[in-house]
Amino acid sequence: MNKNHPCAIILESQCSNRCIFCQSNNVFTRTQEEMRFEFENNKANIIQLAENGFSYIEISGRDPIESPYLISTIEVLKQNNFNDAQLTTHGMHFSDINYANIIVNSGITILKIPLYGVTEEIHDSITQNKGSFKKTIEGIKNARLSNKNLKIKINTLILKQNKHQFIDIYNLSMGLGANQFIVDTVKLIGDSTIWGLNFQELKTTFALFSQNLTRLKNTRFIDYPFCLFGFYSPIIENKNNVPTFGNKYSVPEIYKTEKHGHPAYRNKSFVDICFKCKVKSKCDGFLDSYLNMQNNHIEKLIPVDRKLTLKTS
Ligand code: SF4
Repeated sequence: MNKNHPCAIILESQCSNRCIFCQSNNVFTRTQEEMRFEFENNKANIIQLAENGFSYIEISGRDPIESPYLISTIEVLKQNNFNDAQLTTHGMHFSDINYANIIVNSGITILKIPLYGVTEEIHDSITQNKGSFKKTIEGIKNARLSNKNLKIKINTLILKQNKHQFIDIYNLSMGLGANQFIVDTVKLIGDSTIWGLNFQELKTTFALFSQNLTRLKNTRFIDYPFCLFGFYSPIIENKNNVPTFGNKYSVPEIYKTEKHGHPAYRNKSFVDICFKCKVKSKCDGFLDSYLNMQNNHIEKLIPVDRKLTLKTS
């Protein structure tokens, strides 16, 4: 077992955002009893993961910051001596500086917060939550103020609504004190016609990335294959990096696969062009959910024909 491999627990309650790409579709809530049960399971998972030598753990879910069990969960992590504990959250509750102070100094070492635009209009149109942009920005600022050693990761998704703001989101993130900028993929594909980009559109958007490559320091792209960029770079992570979950965790029934902790929306496949690709050995292929999107224009993609490696410092 690689001890640097991330492990994770899910802490769910409800989410104030109603993101257009999220399949919880405005109906996600947990009863007190369900949350208590989940907390007990998480406790058992955390102990098991610590016993197995993991030192990096992520708390995610919809949305852990809204769970009444967040502080107790962090307490259990501390008791089990995790070196790094990442909280993945919309972060809006940190617009209250006192709350930000409590959480980011309670044992959390990494914070991951999504930012979908540089204007209220764009960000809030994606979260479908008026005021979310202001609260998110305040939350990030307060987190940074409360703990200068905290590692802040800001992640975004490239969607129809914000594809023209991609570089601006990067600039704003760095201006807010982010240590890392992550361009993530949407994992839960529902009806994507309102927000989803086809491969041709993604390729056009990522051409901007190539032009700005030397400026985009500390950026990572997750689960986008190299052919969308036209070259190979280690900052484009195309290998499935699903965290390890404890034995008591169970993937929701509709996403279950044969592999423990690996949900169906993380499945990837190769297509015909992959067999002519020079970087296939470094690639897992396309997320099935992207291949299944209507009008994804895969015929516009060409395999990478040389191992051109581009790096940022
Ligand atoms: S192996 Fe396939 S998916 Fe991966 S970069 Fe090459 S062509 Fe794209």
